Amino acid sequence: MSRVLIVEDEGSIAEIEKDYLELSGFEVVIKSDGTSGYKAAMEEDYDIIILDVMLPGMDGYEICKSIRETKNTPIIMVSAKKEDIDKIRGLGVGADDYMTKPFSPSELVARVKAHLARYERLVSSVKEANDVIEIRGIKIDKTARRVFVNGEERMFTTKEFDLLTFLAENPNRVFTKDELFKEIWDMDSIGDIATVTVHIKKIREKVEFDTSKPQYIETIWGVGYRFKV
Ligand code: CA
Repeated sequence: MSRVLIVEDEGSIAEIEKDYLELSGFEVVIKSDGTSGYKAAMEEDYDIIILDVMLPGMDGYEICKSIRETKNTPIIMVSAKKEDIDKIRGLGVGADDYMTKPFSPSELVARVKAHLARYERLVSSVKEANDVIEIRGIKIDKTARRVFVNGEERMFTTKEFDLLTFLAENPNRVFTKDELFKEIWDMDSIGDIATVTVHIKKIREKVEFDTSKPQYIETIWGVGYRFKV
């Protein structure tokens, strides 16, 4: 279910918007001042934000600009003053759309749906563009060369990244240290198969919850390692 945040200090308007959106199957949260609206937008994940311009605390421009520094959640700004619309455009605060009050609630619902659909298309095209491997809590973005463990980014050296990616791309297959060394390190690189052991240890420290009981990279005694799926 998509979640909508309404930041609006006029209670009656906020309630009408909420009713219509809920009837269309959205989950709605209302914040009635700028400061708590901004806090909610930053700390929680909403799919779209309906933001009034004139608010006690932070105003809508300020909120929109600050959200845009870190998030690209769609934002529809609303104002009772036509001049505000020009200001929203002119200031480049990063809003996706704007509406002048009073507007029909069904028009609002239609715009919310349109923006959500557009945003979903955008997100899925980004996902397709990046070559991503996801195995349980681990997400390896091969294009950006980034690794996330339960949503948190972990830093990997080039070889650690290559080794983890190689194992994850060949799940459940056992590789000897020799095979892994040949695969990841080029012939002239200094080091030997002990390098593999050291790198496996480093990777485990970054991805495993308990390195003494590895859930991802398993040691097959006397043979080598495998990425368990
Ligand atoms: Ca207001």
